[in-house]
Amino acid sequence: MADPRGFITTPRELASRRPVAERVNDWHEVYPGTPGLAVLPIIEKQAGRCMDCGIPFCHQGCPLGNLIPEWNDLIWRDDWRGALDRLHATNNFPEFTGRLCPAPCETACVVGINRDPVTIKNVEVAIIDKAWQDRRVIPQVPEWHTNKTVAVVGSGPSGLAVAQQLTRAGHTVVVHERADAIGGLMRYGIPEFKMEKSVLDRRIKQMELEGTVFVPNVNVGVDITAEQLQERFDAVVLAMGSTVGRDLPVPGRDLGGIHQAMEYLPQANRVARGEDLPDQILATGKDVVIIGGGDTGADCLGTAIRQGARSITQLEIMPRPSEARPARSPWPTYPMVFRVSSAHEEGGERLYAVSTSEFVGQDGAVSGLRLSEVEFVDRRFVPVEGTERILPAQLVLLAMGFTGPQREGLVTELGVSLDPRGNIARDTDFATDVPGVYVCGDAGRGQSLIVWAIAEGRSCAAAVDEYLNGSASRLPRPIRPTDRPLAV
Ligand SMILES: Cc1cc2nc3c(=O)[nH]c(=O)nc-3n(C[C@H](O)[C@H](O)[C@H](O)COP(=O)(O)OP(=O)(O)OC[C@H]3O[C@@H](n4cnc5c(N)ncnc54)[C@H](O)[C@@H]3O)c2cc1C
Ligand code: SF4
Repeated sequence: MADPRGFITTPRELASRRPVAERVNDWHEVYPGTPGLAVLPIIEKQAGRCMDCGIPFCHQGCPLGNLIPEWNDLIWRDDWRGALDRLHATNNFPEFTGRLCPAPCETACVVGINRDPVTIKNVEVAIIDKAWQDRRVIPQVPEWHTNKTVAVVGSGPSGLAVAQQLTRAGHTVVVHERADAIGGLMRYGIPEFKMEKSVLDRRIKQMELEGTVFVPNVNVGVDITAEQLQERFDAVVLAMGSTVGRDLPVPGRDLGGIHQAMEYLPQANRVARGEDLPDQILATGKDVVIIGGGDTGADCLGTAIRQGARSITQLEIMPRPSEARPARSPWPTYPMVFRVSSAHEEGGERLYAVSTSEFVGQDGAVSGLRLSEVEFVDRRFVPVEGTERILPAQLVLLAMGFTGPQREGLVTELGVSLDPRGNIARDTDFATDVPGVYVCGDAGRGQSLIVWAIAEGRSCAAAVDEYLNGSASRLPRPIRPTDRPLAV
């Protein structure tokens, strides 16, 4: 156990973010310098708050089964090398989760029953950022090659995790990505201020040095057929994400100025990295309305603030969650509570329990939207009489989630079945109903989180390794596709 009295004597302390007035003028991460290094002066004492529980519920909260009490203890004892080994034992990319995960481990932490939980996510990011700084993250080149080949389609966190595990197991892995750069939603969805792309680039470099081959600008199903892929490779893994954005088909939807979040965010990400886009969708000087209250909506908010929007309103159909953990989601489950992301600290207004019935406009361009307050009656949202009003908006961003992977093209060509929710169906070994074709990440699970994508990629790799070798795999398998969270 780290400090036996740490959880009593040391209050929870988080890394400080840069002042809002400073950070909204740039695209850098919201922490001063690197988040894991910014937190170093306080992190040993924070790790010392861990009680090394006999039954560590934080393990259960984390889909990866991260060995949290072990690394907390090692950090408290100043053994950073040992902590890195334990961290990498369960997570290929802790610098992604240490920055971007909503940390279901923390809402499951036992200290959190009657005090503030251990700052697990900050300990994680400190271990990995310090390791990168100390040049301890080095390529792990396989000792032998199996002569088996695997095609991975999609380079988001699930595709990267499955590729790294299979490459290290000695297989020849080629990751195909239709975008011009590797990373999936971490490249063109998630903004720089949440995770700078240099963090992604250095991990891709490590994977290249280990032997993973990356082929961007290849849309599988268009540039090469599914048949060609199956002919050339011994196994195929679909890690193509849940990319079809949910729409809002109300009158006026065809007006100009109404865009899916994933039309808007990739452009902003490209420009933040120095690209020149003459027809960029911009929030500058506009009243912006974001429909959808989740992560994607918050990313649109932070981006619109940095672009100099006149006003920003984020709409959510659900009622405002309570500040405290509600009775229906007791510890250790992940509760629906009112959360303030870094973007919400920076500005904008949030409206809850409202629904849009129409977009209005002039000369083909949106100028506002008609909304009303809603109540949940008989399992549906019903407008509250007398609450209808027009909200001005010259830019509307739809951030209402995703309905599944793109069906036309590869999915149809391969003939894999879909589940009732429209995701690619798989068995408990991540296998689709087409022999040799596997699926992991959002494409099979539905819209989810980076931590689940990594856990799925790691587990799918074990199943593919077994299929290729015809014998039990030594790769870890943290989850089965049917696993549902304690959390999220
Ligand atoms: C704006 C936004 C912000 C988010 N923020 C967070 C966050 O802060 N924390 C968090 O945990 N989660 C967040 N998420 C969710 C998280 O990003 C996803 O759950 C995760 O990226 C899913 O990983 P994946 O590998 O399954 O797919 P993706 O990351 O979606 O990657 C799939 C890749 O497959 C490629 N592809 C698809 N079809 C083909 C084809 N036919 N040929 C070649 N390539 C193809 C796509 O171009 C894409 O690059 C966010 C999501 C969005 C949209
Ligand atoms: S539940 Fe909290 S206190 Fe217990 S081992 Fe995990 S991090 Fe430490």
